[in-house]
Amino acid sequence: MASQTRSCAVKKCEVSSCAVCHCCKNDLCLDHLKEHKDQLNAQLIPLGDQINTFLDDLEHFDPTSLSTFKQLEQWRILAHDTVDQFYKRMKYELFEQQKNKPLEKIHATRNMLDQLIQKQAATRENINSLTNDIRLIEQEVNALRNIHIKLCPLVIDDDLIIASTSENR
Ligand SMILES: [Zn+2]
Ligand SMILES: [Zn+2]
Repeated sequence: MASQTRSCAVKKCEVSSCAVCHCCKNDLCLDHLKEHKDQLNAQLIPLGDQINTFLDDLEHFDPTSLSTFKQLEQWRILAHDTVDQFYKRMKYELFEQQKNKPLEKIHATRNMLDQLIQKQAATRENINSLTNDIRLIEQEVNALRNIHIKLCPLVIDDDLIIASTSENR
């Protein structure tokens, strides 16, 4: 029967093959095996060029111009606004609003005092009452300086922003 020798797979080549190419399983003679190998190696160049292009692209990749990045930036600005507004409200409720009560009492006591000074009509009762009022004012002013709060850190859940892959994938 036929020997193991097979002809080269390249058209019109009459040399018998010497090897089977591992990549395409073709029988090839020595010259064509070399040529075939050179062709394959030559394909490495454009592939390398593509890799270099991607590398270059990524090195110069600037996300700040992307609309998604601007969306994130906008989110950051709005989140800061929310924090600032909460801070302002708490500052008012915890401190500024609390000043009003002793302030009203101070004005009322001041009026009473001024009238008594003007009329020069102080009685023992007036003095006791004024002394008492002033002591209460002192307590309220001191209390203002001793407000304690318990603050929990603001936790930002990663789920607040859900990333989606780009549409061309
Ligand atoms: Zn091959
Ligand atoms: Zn050949």
